[in-house]
Amino acid sequence: MAQKKKYVYFFGGGKAEGKAAMRELLGGKGAGLHEMTRIGVPVPPGFTMTTDVCTYYYDHRRQYPKGLADEIANGLGRVERILGRKFGDPENPLLVSVRSGARESMPGMMDTVLNLGLNDRTVQGLVRRTKNPRFAYDSYRRFVQMYGDVVMGLKPADKKERDPFEIILERKKEARRVRFDTDLTADDLKQLVAEYKAEIKKRLGQNFPDDPRAQLWGAIGAVFGSWNNDRAIAYRDLYRIPHNWGTAVNVQAMVFGNMGENCVTGVAFTRDPATGEKRFYGEFLVNAQGEDVVAGIRTPRLIAELKEVMPKSYAELDRVCKLLERHYKEMQDIEFTIEDGKLWMLQTRTGKRTGFAAVRIAVDMVDEKIISKEKALLRIEPDQLNQLLRPIFDPADKERAGREGRILAKGLPAGPGAATGRVVFHAEDAEAWKKRGERVILCRVETSPDDIRGMDAAQGILTARGGMTSHAALVARQMGKVCVVGCEAIHVDYARREMRVADTILKEGDWISVDGTTGEVMRGEIQAFPSEVLQVLLAGTLDAKASRVYQQFTKLIRWADGIRKIGVRTNTDQPDQARVAVAFGAEGIGLCRTEHMFFGGERIRAVQEMILAKDQSGRRQALAKLLSMQKEDFKGILDIMGARPVTIRTLDPPLHEFLPKTEEEIVELAETMGVPVAELKSKVESLHEFNPMLGHRGCRLGISYPEITEMQARAIFEAACELRREGKNPFPEVMIPLVATRQELHLQREIVEGVAREVMKSHGVKVRYLVGTMIELPRACLFADEIAREAEFFSFGTNDLTQTCLGLSRDDAGKFLPSYVAQGIYPEDPFVSIDQGGVGELMRIGVQKGRKVKKELEIGICGEHGGDPRSVAFCHEVGLDYVSCAAFRVPIAKLAAAQAALKR
Ligand code: PEP
Ligand code: MG
Repeated sequence: MAQKKKYVYFFGGGKAEGKAAMRELLGGKGAGLHEMTRIGVPVPPGFTMTTDVCTYYYDHRRQYPKGLADEIANGLGRVERILGRKFGDPENPLLVSVRSGARESMPGMMDTVLNLGLNDRTVQGLVRRTKNPRFAYDSYRRFVQMYGDVVMGLKPADKKERDPFEIILERKKEARRVRFDTDLTADDLKQLVAEYKAEIKKRLGQNFPDDPRAQLWGAIGAVFGSWNNDRAIAYRDLYRIPHNWGTAVNVQAMVFGNMGENCVTGVAFTRDPATGEKRFYGEFLVNAQGEDVVAGIRTPRLIAELKEVMPKSYAELDRVCKLLERHYKEMQDIEFTIEDGKLWMLQTRTGKRTGFAAVRIAVDMVDEKIISKEKALLRIEPDQLNQLLRPIFDPADKERAGREGRILAKGLPAGPGAATGRVVFHAEDAEAWKKRGERVILCRVETSPDDIRGMDAAQGILTARGGMTSHAALVARQMGKVCVVGCEAIHVDYARREMRVADTILKEGDWISVDGTTGEVMRGEIQAFPSEVLQVLLAGTLDAKASRVYQQFTKLIRWADGIRKIGVRTNTDQPDQARVAVAFGAEGIGLCRTEHMFFGGERIRAVQEMILAKDQSGRRQALAKLLSMQKEDFKGILDIMGARPVTIRTLDPPLHEFLPKTEEEIVELAETMGVPVAELKSKVESLHEFNPMLGHRGCRLGISYPEITEMQARAIFEAACELRREGKNPFPEVMIPLVATRQELHLQREIVEGVAREVMKSHGVKVRYLVGTMIELPRACLFADEIAREAEFFSFGTNDLTQTCLGLSRDDAGKFLPSYVAQGIYPEDPFVSIDQGGVGELMRIGVQKGRKVKKELEIGICGEHGGDPRSVAFCHEVGLDYVSCAAFRVPIAKLAAAQAALKR
């Protein structure tokens, strides 16, 4: 016979039917209460109704399973026997709390009812037991208010309306001519109870239930019901908590921190959640209920003071907290009450923490031999490492900005960190202002390749348009710049040199602050601190020995290096960025976008000459000018990277990106080039494309103009051969972009290999090199076996692959993608985290087909996804050799890769 399902689990008096491992059934709070009881921690007795009850309730039109009532009666009976009190007994009443508790904590989203079991008769029992009528009536008044609101639904109709109970309370205080609730007498509170009940009757047409059992069932229904209130649903959407999990409900004997001066309520962490320091950290209030601490009505006192106020209780609390941390092997966030000098624990859970604290606690706990290195690595969210690498806003200063209403708008957080500076709207201004010693934020509708130097000069970049792989986003990430993109609330007016956000107008030169970690844009200056890790690693302004943050960070990354299976390279095209990446432990370059080297001064002129040339010989002349410049660029990068592989991609973007756009610019260029304006104009127009992203770009350029590929290959091999002759060991990997067919790659490869042979011969040296391709079109994935015959490596360009697989423009989708994500159409922005079912499936096919032809084919990824922890785990799973990402994401990718290896 099938065993009868158990719906209620009891805990109390040192025994518990549940345990920590039963989180799915008992919820986080419930599992914690059971486990604490089990290991001898003082917990008020009670019972947990399982999450199964909740799912049953919703599956059966809000009916409860059969047998639940008996199990609850049984549980109540056990609580009564332990405490020697009875539910509903006018002499010595048992009062309970009814609280939600889901598998994952959903702070404040669901409902709670406290002091349940009070009515006009039982309140007398409470008066007698506590000899404190004021306390008894205050509890009763709070109960009626809470129950009337949460269970019966007497709430303000909208945001503008005031809470009906608060209005009555205000009136009472006015009538009594007192300022604080605490000045009201027991009689005042007794009258309030009657007035509250009358209001409920008047507004809802229902009597307030006096029968404690009816109260209990009402509260249970309300708490299960709150699983599906609007804010709980929104919270689950945000944190991807499945809607079918359901909540557990805990019914537990009340203990009071507000019965007198010998009572306390408090919250604490076993370690400092901001810094991770090993010190008992928390706050308490004497003579108060838990809600008072959270509500911030009274200023709580620091836990250290409890030692002086109640030395014995403090010692017990300290003992229990140490026990809990040792038991869970993890920093705990606890809630406690001291009733008449006796300590009771109400909750324990894993404490939330900053990135700094996460690293410190994990590394400290390994040093203290509490956890293993593997556990430590798994405990840190890879993205949390960002906090250690970026400047961060002073939390107090930022909070002040919030209070002062200075948070103006929110965009997509494309480049994390904190930046404050003066508003400029043009790249040239950013450069000029920086030269004058100003800090600036470059604010644009969107950025384009010719803004690069301005972006570099700015502290931060803000754009009104664009998504997470827009030009601004990927360049900023690569530069390690703070960046917020797609901030649609901003209206930039270049002509007036101002931007508007709702009613606020910001003019050129005004101060703003941009938080690239949250996407917030704030008016005015906000104090920020520089990263200690960078001060040691890059700036050299701090000694490694003097920085615990740096030491623990590097220790953690070393551990990750020992465990991960997948390599980590970087995307860069500048020698100084390459240096940063090497400092962060990059194992090579996975993508060098050569077109980024085409900008600036004389180079852009030479590029423009090449594009505008009438024939091949004209193009060759212009290309000859570029050759020596490109060679120097490559030499610089290859030199810094030593023997590590350096993947250099041939020209990719549509040519018109390099041409002048405005009338003014065209006139200027025509003058310097000595060609008629009309001719230049018509050439620019002839290069216009309706869909440049699907147009004449990628290898299609090298196919049309083989001399471009030839020049770039020559620059690469000249640079490599010169280094080789200097006794160095460079390792270029030449990568052809946007390949769809085998023949495209074949033609381009012939050119590259021909040049390689010729240059090596003329220098009399041999250089290790590979020729391969980007895989960034669906067709390339489907024909990967064919293409692999021509390729020594593949690198997934998941920016374009996402664009072409999903048919979403990477430059424009930012407008509606957030709403798509909000509606659950995509679980996450597919330009941020690989769309595993679609793009991921194409990658699987590509890997499998490619390796079928060439077992040892090297395969990596160089799209922006290479630095996204979830995508890194996916790349590990499909068997890639490496991921490549911006320098600042290298440590994050390393940690994510180690976690992926451990989880397998
Ligand atoms: C890609 O498409 O993923 C890629 C890396 O190339 P780009 O972003 O330069 O198009
Ligand atoms: Mg691409």
